[in-house]
Amino acid sequence: MVHFIGAGPGAADLITVRGCELLKTADVVIYAGSLVNPDLLKYTKSGCEIHNSAFMTLEEVIDTIKKAESENKTTVRLHTGDPSIYGAIREQIDLLEKYNIFYDVVPGVSSFFGAAAALGAEYTLPGISQTVIISRMEGRTPVPERENIRSLAAHKSTMVLFLSSSLTEELSAELIEGGYEPDTPVAVVYKATWPDQKIFKCTIETLHQTMKENSIYKTALILVGNFLGKKYDRSELYNPDFTHEYRNSKNE
Ligand code: SAH
Repeated sequence: MVHFIGAGPGAADLITVRGCELLKTADVVIYAGSLVNPDLLKYTKSGCEIHNSAFMTLEEVIDTIKKAESENKTTVRLHTGDPSIYGAIREQIDLLEKYNIFYDVVPGVSSFFGAAAALGAEYTLPGISQTVIISRMEGRTPVPERENIRSLAAHKSTMVLFLSSSLTEELSAELIEGGYEPDTPVAVVYKATWPDQKIFKCTIETLHQTMKENSIYKTALILVGNFLGKKYDRSELYNPDFTHEYRNSKNE
């Protein structure tokens, strides 16, 4: 049995209770060492075999799992944040299915939730945006042309950019060409929830300079949109004039 587990964004106590319980019982752990906090490994039992997938290929990961299976061992595959976001789990799952190896997936706190928490921000502010677009600049992994930042920017919704810290000059140009005002607020959250977390507030126009001045080239999220501004409408849910399933309007 293989458990894919979301390790959370950084802080070791942001793994879920379920993820942690499974980690404690694992015979073999394969963790994404580039971003998973190694402090999480303290939860493993003694004798647990530990592999850092940063040094491994997909084939080596699968071979390690197959070997564990042949010895009736339980494997935990620990991914950063939530495994469904840029986690490369699908290719592993397809191979496990091919070899008839059982698996399940335990969700995790994605770094984009960690970043919002660090800011005390709400991505979906009434009157501002009710949509969060998660995307990235094209790097070595191509992004389909129809999803280029320019066209996504046309919505002027909340945007969360992963994997784009080294491409901010192009990113800002695309965001502005797409339709955002150059002074739209941006927050860069570096290592959200880690002890060395840093937050930089700027605008689309000053993003690149901010990144350069602070030498941020990786492990950061770039959050864009007026949800970072001052204006918004208050919610209907907690509006005294509003009646809903659980509460009558105070004014009836
Ligand atoms: N599955 C992960 C994302 C993996 S892709 C998740 O759900 O968070 C790796 C990218 O995620 C990094 O390049 C960076 O953009 C972002 N990232 C991961 N952890 C981060 C953190 N603690 N703070 C800020 N960005 C982070």
